[in-house]
Amino acid sequence: MLRIAPTFEVLRPETLDEVVNLLDQHGEAARLIAGGTDFVPNLKHGLYAPEVVIDLKGVSALRGIEHRPESLVFGALVGLHEMETDTRVHAVLPSLSRAASLVAGPQQRRMGTLGGNLCLDTRCVYINQTEFWRGALGGCLKKDGDVCHVTVTGKKCVAAASNDTAPVLISLGATVELLSPRGVRHLPVDELYINDGIRNLALGHDEVLTRVFVPRPGPQRRMGFEKLRTRGAIDFPLLNCALAFDLDEAENLSEPVLIFSAVAARPRSISQLPVGRLDAALIAEFGQRAFASVRPLTNINADVDWRREMVPHLVSRAFEAALGRASATPFSLSNAR
Ligand SMILES: Cc1cc2nc3c(=O)[nH]c(=O)nc-3n(C[C@H](O)[C@H](O)[C@H](O)COP(=O)(O)OP(=O)(O)OC[C@H]3O[C@@H](n4cnc5c(N)ncnc54)[C@H](O)[C@@H]3O)c2cc1C
Ligand code: SF4
Repeated sequence: MLRIAPTFEVLRPETLDEVVNLLDQHGEAARLIAGGTDFVPNLKHGLYAPEVVIDLKGVSALRGIEHRPESLVFGALVGLHEMETDTRVHAVLPSLSRAASLVAGPQQRRMGTLGGNLCLDTRCVYINQTEFWRGALGGCLKKDGDVCHVTVTGKKCVAAASNDTAPVLISLGATVELLSPRGVRHLPVDELYINDGIRNLALGHDEVLTRVFVPRPGPQRRMGFEKLRTRGAIDFPLLNCALAFDLDEAENLSEPVLIFSAVAARPRSISQLPVGRLDAALIAEFGQRAFASVRPLTNINADVDWRREMVPHLVSRAFEAALGRASATPFSLSNAR
C-alpha cells in the first residue's frame, strides 16, 4: 500500500476568514483539501509536496444547498451523494444530479464534494502513476520532465479535465464564487478552466471556491448528461457530455448547448448546433457536429478511434436522458460497441 510521508502540517480552520488568512500566510506552500478523494491519491503518488494542508471540512459556511427563487446555490462542501439523492435538486437540475450519481463509486461520492470535483486536477495515463513508474519514463511536462508522452513533440500538457460535474454546470450557465485575501469574485464555470493540463484552473493559489450558483431553468429547458467509462462504476470518464436545450409544445428545439469533456485540458463546447423539430435526424446532426469537433487523445488509456466512434452514441444517450428516458444501464466497455 502506498503511504503518505508526513512532511506537512494539517490546519483545520472553522471560518472562511481563517481559510483566507492561512492562504495569505502560506502562499504556494499551502494546498486545500475537501473530501480528499483525489487529493490523497495524488499526494501518495508524489504529485504534490505541500508544506501545509488546509482542511476545509470544519468550515460550516461552505455547507448547504439554498433554493432561491432565481437560482440554486451550492456550498463548495456539498457532497456528491447529497446532490445525487436530494429530490429537490433532482427535480430542478436532473443533469447535475445524474452527473453526481455517475462519479466514481458510493464511497467516493460519500466523501467527495462539489468544490473538490470542480477543482479536480487533470488526469493522464502518464501522470496518475507512482513516482517510481513516472521516474522510469523520465517524468513529463506536468511533473519532473521536459517532454509530453502524449503529443511527443508538443510543448503543452494536454492532460484531460475529468470532472463529471463541470460540463453540466457549464451547460447550465452556472457561476462560481471565489474568495481570496483580495475579496470575492464571480466567474462563469466555463471561465474557471484554461487550456493547460499542468494546471487547468483560472484560480489563484490563494483563492478558495466557496459557492456555485446555478440559474433556475425555465419550464421549457431540458437537460441531460451521459458518460462513457471502462466499467459500469468507479471509473473516471473516457468521455462525458452535457446537453441542454429548450423544447416547446410543438417539439421544436432551440437554444442548444452541448459540452464534451475528458478530451482535453478543459471542457469543450460544440459549436454550430442545429435547431428545429426534434426528431432522429436532428439528433443525428448533433452527433455529427460533436464527432467533427471531438478528437480524443492518448492521455486516457482507451483506444482513441473507438472513443471517437462513441461520440454520436453518447449524444443520443444524452438526448434520452434529457427527455426523461435515461438508461439505467451505464454506458461502458461491456455495452458500447
Ligand atoms: C477510484 C476513484 C474514481 C473516481 N472517479 C471519478 C469520476 O468518475 N468522475 C469524477 O469527476 N471524479 C472521480 N474521482 C475523483 C474524486 O472522487 C471526485 O472528483 C470528487 O468530487 C473530488 O472531491 P473531493 O472533495 O474529494 O476533492 P479533494 O480530493 O479534497 O480535492 C480535489 C482538488 O480540489 C481542490 N479543492 C477542493 N476543494 C476546494 C475548494 N473549495 N476551493 C479550491 N480548491 C479546492 C484540492 O486542493 C484538490 O486539488 C474518482 C476518485 C477515485 C479515487
Ligand atoms: S499530457 Fe503529456 S505532459 Fe501532460 S501529464 Fe500527460 S504526458 Fe505529461
